[in-house]
Amino acid sequence: MKEKLENIQKLSKDFLMDTYARAPIAFAYGKGAVLYDVDEKDYIDFGSGIGVSSLGYGNEEFAKVIATEALKLIHTSNLYYIEPQALLAQKLVELSKYPMKVFFANSGAEANEGAIKLARKYGEVCFKQKRYKIITLDSSFHGRTIATLKATGQSRFHQYFSPFPEGFVIAENLKDVYHKIDEETCAVMIELIQGEGGIYALPKEEVQALKAELEKRGILLIVDEVQSGIYRSGEMLASHLYEITPDIITLAKGLGGGVPIGAVMCLRDIFTQGDHGSTFGGNFLSTQAGLFVLKTLSDQKESGELDKIVKIFHQELDSLLRDFSHLFVKKVGIGLMVGLEAKDDEIQSKILEVAMQERVLILRSGRNVVRFLPPLTIQKEEIAEGFARLKKGLARI
Ligand code: PLP
Repeated sequence: MKEKLENIQKLSKDFLMDTYARAPIAFAYGKGAVLYDVDEKDYIDFGSGIGVSSLGYGNEEFAKVIATEALKLIHTSNLYYIEPQALLAQKLVELSKYPMKVFFANSGAEANEGAIKLARKYGEVCFKQKRYKIITLDSSFHGRTIATLKATGQSRFHQYFSPFPEGFVIAENLKDVYHKIDEETCAVMIELIQGEGGIYALPKEEVQALKAELEKRGILLIVDEVQSGIYRSGEMLASHLYEITPDIITLAKGLGGGVPIGAVMCLRDIFTQGDHGSTFGGNFLSTQAGLFVLKTLSDQKESGELDKIVKIFHQELDSLLRDFSHLFVKKVGIGLMVGLEAKDDEIQSKILEVAMQERVLILRSGRNVVRFLPPLTIQKEEIAEGFARLKKGLARI
């Protein structure tokens, strides 16, 4: 079977662009929060394919919903009405409790492109003098398209690809946003919990104060919930935890449970026909998947099951922090978007190495954080097994 992995590696080398540093593993299937590779070795998944597989793997009911829709209709384009698309929009509005309208895209970056276009149009039609600047934060991550890369506050992503579109201003932190606002600012875009930038949860009072200030000035607040949204924070949206009403929210990752989908939600009617569009966005397959994901996770939240799992996961993280205080500084993050800050980047790399040896999938974030984004349906036995393996591995550092 080793041959199988080698064959896949060779095919990938020969025919795929070399854009990813991949671990030498090829997965074949999964069940719950456990993935099995082509050699039948089991891995406890604390990464969910970077926060995407919110329902874990091998969920038969989910697979049936997708298969049934695939037999009926996968795609018709947005030239016609699409019932599950309208129902998913309704469900998102209902669960968010914000009186917003929804546009469906296919990824997080695309959802953010939609948000940027909304803000730009707002800046053009709602002020005497055109406004076009969007302020984002240092260490943020908003995507890989040219505009969302420029919005991303990490200069390592800006090495090539210029010229970038104008109008993106990076603020050092929330306090610095006030200094960066000028007569051309139309929006501020933030992640409430920075996912790629070290699982850093922005201070709640500062976010609330900024929102109040922006409202006074008529500047939009865009909250990128691509990673933090869809119950990842333990609530439907991290915005609920922060007790704010953003003007625009973007979603993707967990919404489709692995079926690609993105969404941008907005409080105001800014777009009119022809302003934006997507060939694939919101098709039958992805929105039917989204409906199942939202139903499953909202039920799990309502029954108290999600809160229970969050608590168990945090207890395990706290115990890791206590037992290995020579490796870790502190726990970071909220809900099941959490991390442990390692003492330095060398230790971070060693932790990732031993986790891989013990077959536990965790993720890097920022300079020295190890990140945990387990499936939201993970069971307590799977959590226990994952942490037992981690402890065994960490003992070797
Ligand atoms: N925004 C945030 C906060 C993200 O974490 C990501 C991806 O990691 C993106 C946007 C980009 O999403 P995608 O890779 O689906 O384009």
